[in-house]
Amino acid sequence: MIDLRSDTVTKPSTGMLEYMLKAELGDDVFGEDPTVTKLEEQIAGMAGMEAAVFSPTGTQSNLLGIMSHCQRGDEYIVGQTAHTYMFEGGGAAILGSIQPQPLDFDLDGTLDLDKVYMAIKPDDFHFARTKLLCLENTTTGRVLPLDYLKKIPAFCKENKLASHLDGARVFNAVSKLGVNLETITQHFDSVSVCLSKGLGAPLGSILCGSKELIKEARKWRKMLGGGMRQAGIVAAAGIYALEHNIERLREDHDNAELLAKGLGEIDAIQIIAINTNILLIKVNKNYPELREELFKNGVIFPKTANKAGIIRLVTHLDVSTDDILKTTNLIKAFYHKQ
Ligand SMILES: *Cc1c(COP(=O)(O)O)cnc(C)c1O
Repeated sequence: MIDLRSDTVTKPSTGMLEYMLKAELGDDVFGEDPTVTKLEEQIAGMAGMEAAVFSPTGTQSNLLGIMSHCQRGDEYIVGQTAHTYMFEGGGAAILGSIQPQPLDFDLDGTLDLDKVYMAIKPDDFHFARTKLLCLENTTTGRVLPLDYLKKIPAFCKENKLASHLDGARVFNAVSKLGVNLETITQHFDSVSVCLSKGLGAPLGSILCGSKELIKEARKWRKMLGGGMRQAGIVAAAGIYALEHNIERLREDHDNAELLAKGLGEIDAIQIIAINTNILLIKVNKNYPELREELFKNGVIFPKTANKAGIIRLVTHLDVSTDDILKTTNLIKAFYHKQ
């Protein structure tokens, strides 16, 4: 099947599975799994941070970050459509008693720092204490500009804020900009990276930060049920992904462009945005029938559009250039018959 719903659907490759089979294991709750430790050290090194902690999901990894930066009654400033606000079940508020202050993202996926400044609460007992600025890179595929990121440390210092980057797809930004991870992450106090998206591991995320922050995060991880035993079996997939699947993200970006080009030639389809591996479209005619026809031919599109009528398509390592051409040809044939 050619599954364009998300880059989370990737399955571990034979090479990855073979590497996992050979992983040296131990009890990671005792700190004795050498493969988990290796992965944590490897990614902390790449991010230019002191330490890292492995977590089963990006949702948990972000939550560990937010809960380690903030106390009960604190607040984090976050994008209105950010994963850490919209898509994590309200975890920071519910489990951390940490209030979100959402702001609209600008078109490029940044939060306007003047608006962030205005949202910071005065130091007064009427207010929650604003403690953290949370950004997302990439956000719906958009790469945050480096010039913007460079402003974050001074802005946060000036306003006594910590900073966290939800870098679920930060390697797509790394690939797009042609920089190394540290060039992006050096501007933040912590970063969460997903191994289970375009990098192709079956699961796993990593939170990176200072030794002190990661020590705190380990406590929250245990409390949240994320302390895993022979987790090296999955961490091995992460190591394999870091060593084999970063360079190739460029192919996903090229394939997304190719898909946008093909779909752009079809009258019934409108291209809304194309950024890194994420394409947003509107289908103005017979979407349920189109989806059904595609499914019969081995192509999976999302069940429905969102409330704004937008359908998100995502390229990844289990979708080849031929798969993209097959998909656009099927859609062209479908509308030709109408
Ligand atoms: C996928 C994703 C996460 C984490 O999701 P999990 O499914 O919990 O691993 C966090 N942030 C963003 C922007 C994401 O796309």
